[in-house]
Amino acid sequence: MKKTAMKITHLPTPWFHQQILAWYDQQGRHTLPWKKAINAYRVWVSEIMLQQTQVSTVIPYFKRFMKTFPNVKTLAKAPLDDVLHLWAGLGYYARGRNLHKTAQMIHQQYQDKFPSTVEALMELPGIGRSTAGAIVAQAFNLRAPICDGNVKRVLSRLHCIGGWPGQKEVEAILWELANHYTPSERVADYTQAMMDIGATLCTRSSPNCSACPLQKRCQAYAEDKQHIYPQKKPQKTLPSRQTLMLCLLNKNKEILLQQRPQKGIWGGLWSLPQFDDKETLTAFIQQHFGLKRLTLSPLVEIQHTFTHFHLTITPWQGKISKSTALQTEDLHWVDAKALKKLGFPAPVKKLLRYDMIAENM
Ligand code: SF4
Repeated sequence: MKKTAMKITHLPTPWFHQQILAWYDQQGRHTLPWKKAINAYRVWVSEIMLQQTQVSTVIPYFKRFMKTFPNVKTLAKAPLDDVLHLWAGLGYYARGRNLHKTAQMIHQQYQDKFPSTVEALMELPGIGRSTAGAIVAQAFNLRAPICDGNVKRVLSRLHCIGGWPGQKEVEAILWELANHYTPSERVADYTQAMMDIGATLCTRSSPNCSACPLQKRCQAYAEDKQHIYPQKKPQKTLPSRQTLMLCLLNKNKEILLQQRPQKGIWGGLWSLPQFDDKETLTAFIQQHFGLKRLTLSPLVEIQHTFTHFHLTITPWQGKISKSTALQTEDLHWVDAKALKKLGFPAPVKKLLRYDMIAENM
């Protein structure tokens, strides 16, 4: 890519706005649940949920979330466990924890009123520049650019911007374009329109250029290079890791769970005790339950891929006859019937098939 030396000729802004807004009036996604009774809280929750996640996946989560936490105050006052429980399955759990932290800050420092500037919003946990821009534009209808993945794709193609949008130089160019094209009027509609065009027309693998309002002046379309832009992140091979999990049941129909530390992978979620190898698992059983030997049977292995590595989980199931008191704060015996109320990471949820647990009680 020609980096910063690249000369970009902006498209005429009146034409650009006219095309985008006329298309939005006719074809935009006006019925998304967060577009109803719009306010900063609803825009913020939807924006956080939509990060790395498809609209169709987000909709049921958003509806459940709004039913349980209809405003920032109810979210701020809820236990983190309840929030993570509703988040379970959406992945990237730091988003759920930050949502809770930010709600508490807005409750305490802003008396439940969201700040209306990009700068103030960016001070809050989990709110980046594009999310802050979306809240300001959508909820307050004030001029603020957004440049999320969808918008970056449209702008990269429109101007044939080479390079991966995660690179600093490329990102700076795309933000400059996003800022240049953001209008002062109807900014909420414009912002939604750009997101909609990226999500419904200018899609990653099969852009529908014949229906696109920008086709006439789109450089990638003119050069038949839609599939070249934006360029992909340079690939790297992910390392593989192994772990063992203990699925231990007791005579009271309870299962041994461990709450993960707040920081790090699966922070704050509930999981099964995890070990590097069989020796440390055996030592754990002896330490906590005084048993030198316990018959354990293997359950089906589970594969899970994180952003930085692949994880193979080998679960071992065992039963003990007594319900020994636990000495550490993070370990708990939990009634099998209460499992559905807790937040688990997706692979552990898969592993804890409730019917399987019930069968083995
Ligand atoms: S014409 Fe095609 S490539 Fe260009 S912005 Fe529209 S959908 Fe994307």
